[in-house]
Amino acid sequence: MGGAVVDLLSRFVDERYDARTSDYADLEPLLASLAGPPPAAPGDLGQLLSTVEHAASKGFDTANPGFVGYIPGGGLYSAALGDFIACVVNRYTGVAAPAPALVQLESSVLRWLCDAFGMPVGSQGVLTPGGSMSTLSAVVAARSTRLGEDFRGARLYVSDEVHHCVAKSAQIAGLPRDAVRVVRTDDHLRLDPAALREAIVEDRAAGLVPFMAVASAGTINTGVVDPLTAVADVCAEQDVWFHVDGAYGGFFQLTERGRVALAGIERADSIVLDPHKGLFLPYGTGCLLVRDREALRAAHEVQAHYLPPPSDDPGLPDFSAFSPELTRDFRGLRLWLPLHLHGTQAFVDALDEKLDLARELHGALSGLDLELAGGPDLSLVAFRPLSADPDALLDRINGTGRMWLSSAPVRGRTFLRMCLLSHRTRRDRVEEAVQIIRQSLEP
Ligand SMILES: *Cc1c(COP(=O)(O)O)cnc(C)c1O
Repeated sequence: MGGAVVDLLSRFVDERYDARTSDYADLEPLLASLAGPPPAAPGDLGQLLSTVEHAASKGFDTANPGFVGYIPGGGLYSAALGDFIACVVNRYTGVAAPAPALVQLESSVLRWLCDAFGMPVGSQGVLTPGGSMSTLSAVVAARSTRLGEDFRGARLYVSDEVHHCVAKSAQIAGLPRDAVRVVRTDDHLRLDPAALREAIVEDRAAGLVPFMAVASAGTINTGVVDPLTAVADVCAEQDVWFHVDGAYGGFFQLTERGRVALAGIERADSIVLDPHKGLFLPYGTGCLLVRDREALRAAHEVQAHYLPPPSDDPGLPDFSAFSPELTRDFRGLRLWLPLHLHGTQAFVDALDEKLDLARELHGALSGLDLELAGGPDLSLVAFRPLSADPDALLDRINGTGRMWLSSAPVRGRTFLRMCLLSHRTRRDRVEEAVQIIRQSLEP
């Protein structure tokens, strides 16, 4: 069974470079054929694998080197091998006692991340299913630390370019809908620290309770980095929890240029990272780093008499004490195996390559009949045609089957965006993209 699956997957990876970036042909009959219940009698693995392969071929191909829509990540094969092992071994890592050495593997990666982001001793990392779940835990930690049990008048500050998972987290965390106050961004779409400060002071004077501010280390629409140091200063002065959404851009911190762009992130009370974006891992791999592990613990931990005695070793945590989850997949191996197999320098080099390519892309596109949203802070370039319809341009580019871009509204105008973050998106494909855009602009 394993051999058949590996054969299919090796072929799948090889084919990505020639595969169309999207395919919705003959979808309806396929969907209809997949809608039935499972059979009582056993099936044939070969046939079942073809069914899965056919199903996986529909939609837009997020594992394709031409996929630069939203925030890509690619999905490293070595991480999938880690997952395969984790699922078959099926040891329990929700608490430390059942598999202490496996928890140590996961914990070692989290410690490495805390160090990379300048988090002190006493900080804690936790792996989550993604950025949204990480954000929820961060909001809950900030809420319970800063507000206790009385949320009345609570205020959380975001920019008008922040990811919607913050508002969603606030909603799930039980905060009233008007608890999220949107602060304007400046002409470069970055959170304006003076406007943030003004909003906090004004709310406090009105008897409200400012408790948290969110800055983005790479926004979803145009990839810009908010002025993290200035926001950190405002948060320190106004005594509110400083959260950084690094789901897209956080991992550029591993590079020298990234550390310059993200300066100030080390002052955050909490940082959201998405290894399924910036570490090229498969979907389902998020991360949260929190400066004060006790704040994260107090917001999540509930004791149960039927569990092993809680771990009091900070190096060997009960992950369930820092997360809404109890039983979970052993997602630590998804990081540990690729990092140890390829070495961290391979990741640094790949991230550096994306920074280079984004700069080159920006340079090439600025020679065309396009308006660019701004110089790339990281690896995202957003642009719109000066004299054509952006939606028609997008359709033409994506229609080639070689690239797949998404669009975003920026101050009410549609921009196309290319986010270079998949490990499979290399120079050849970016150069091809420039050709495709050039040709698609021709009448
Ligand atoms: C992807 C993303 C999120 C949400 O993370 P998920 O992993 O999709 O839940 C939040 N913020 C930013 C900036 C993102 O790019």
